Amino acid sequence: MNPVDSSHKRKHFVIVGNGGAGISAAKAACSAGYQGIIHMVSDIEGPTFNPMLSPYYLSGEIVYERCFPFGKEFYEKNSIQCHFGSPVEAIDTQQQKVYVSGGGMIPYDDCLIATGASPLLPKVPGIQNSYNVFTLRTAEQMIRLKKALMGAKNAVILGASLIGIKLAEVLMRKGIRVILVELTKQVLPFFAHPQLAPIIHEHLLNKGVDLRLSWALEGLEEKKGRVYLHFQEDQIVKTDLVLICIGIKPNLEFLKGTQIEVDRGIIVDDHMQTNINHVYAAGDVSQGTNQLTGKKEMMGLWGNACYQGRTAGYNVAGMNVSYPGYLPQYVNHFFGITFIHLGDINPQGGEIEILKQFEPSEGIYSLLVFDKGVLVGANLINNLKEAGRLKTAILRKQTKEGGLSRYFFYPSGKDFNLIKPVFSPSFMLAKKDSFYN
Ligand SMILES: Cc1cc2nc3c(=O)[nH]c(=O)nc-3n(C[C@H](O)[C@H](O)[C@H](O)COP(=O)(O)OP(=O)(O)OC[C@H]3O[C@@H](n4cnc5c(N)ncnc54)[C@H](O)[C@@H]3O)c2cc1C
Repeated sequence: MNPVDSSHKRKHFVIVGNGGAGISAAKAACSAGYQGIIHMVSDIEGPTFNPMLSPYYLSGEIVYERCFPFGKEFYEKNSIQCHFGSPVEAIDTQQQKVYVSGGGMIPYDDCLIATGASPLLPKVPGIQNSYNVFTLRTAEQMIRLKKALMGAKNAVILGASLIGIKLAEVLMRKGIRVILVELTKQVLPFFAHPQLAPIIHEHLLNKGVDLRLSWALEGLEEKKGRVYLHFQEDQIVKTDLVLICIGIKPNLEFLKGTQIEVDRGIIVDDHMQTNINHVYAAGDVSQGTNQLTGKKEMMGLWGNACYQGRTAGYNVAGMNVSYPGYLPQYVNHFFGITFIHLGDINPQGGEIEILKQFEPSEGIYSLLVFDKGVLVGANLINNLKEAGRLKTAILRKQTKEGGLSRYFFYPSGKDFNLIKPVFSPSFMLAKKDSFYN
């Protein structure tokens, strides 16, 4: 770790984590003219990695360097003090100090926790140390998986959600036979409405995906370089590699012993401040406001992480910036279709009404969810052009009577404000740089 000179009068802003949230905070603080010293602390070496671009690297659509969207130059150009390869092990919020492995200490005036999240593993003995089990979050994991794919003939992917389905496509394009296993009884359990999920299910089957729904992993053995996965009712699948995509857990272990309020993630207000003065949190490690429900929720989205980081950075630099929260929005392109989830498609209670416009001949499917007449969520297949205005309609709590359904179901209607879509889906980001600047 670089020695830290705390003798002089300049302030210290310590950013823990060099992902999208961390670097966005540093960029915002610099652009707002922060006069102190910015420290960036990361457990891994190298510049910011964007995990959402890894499927595109694995498929060969982008080169390795594209996964590091901010490059190496940013740190030097902005006189950032980098403490890379130095995992933070503890924070003392009373003394305002961050401790890193190897005994290093950095004092802070303000601290941002932006340590992101790690992939969840099923609770099955042996899975953690299995050579043939893969997860995807860091550049190192991406490279390890890329090498393994070269020799693999078949694979099992656990989790038929957005990342699992995308990776199934990537692997199958390489000629690898894929079994896609899902614990629940439908694909995309958190994102697709039960009335729309069968359409995606059918599409995946038509593309040759071997789907196993309601399958629970119970055990794992390795024999002669192959993995034997045990599922319920003595079903055994033999495979070359296992890819786990069942969710994430925030990286918070180093907070033990602090008074920082944690639910699943670190609770933040709309300034990204935690309950402890001068401690902020942003990105996948945090639980910020869901703009639709007002509840504190984890989002797991690159755009949200960057907005939250930016908000924290501006505030540390002395501005007064609030972030109203994020509307859940997931846009993914897999097996030739674009799937979009907006807002809340499974609202609890209330009077729920579903409006559907399915046009199988054109491959376009739209499902809107109303709660007491107000639009709260939507699922779209191959209907990207409507996503921006539906997002706006959800945020404006537009009702069916307010002209929404008429517009939506009769696209020539003119009674709805056209707002530019604000999506940055990964498949578009993989192609352009503009989002980062
Ligand atoms: C395969 C994949 C596909 C995805 N696709 C999409 C998508 O299509 N759209 C979308 O919006 N989002 C997508 N995401 C999610 C998106 O990548 C994350 O939401 C985003 O990267 C979160 O940024 P972050 O800065 O909060 O966390 P991270 O990117 O995880 O960065 C956190 C950093 O903190 C470091 N760190 C952790 N612990 C410590 C410690 N103790 N000390 C020091 N440093 C530490 C980590 O090494 C890491 O560098 C995808 C994610 C994956 C894995």
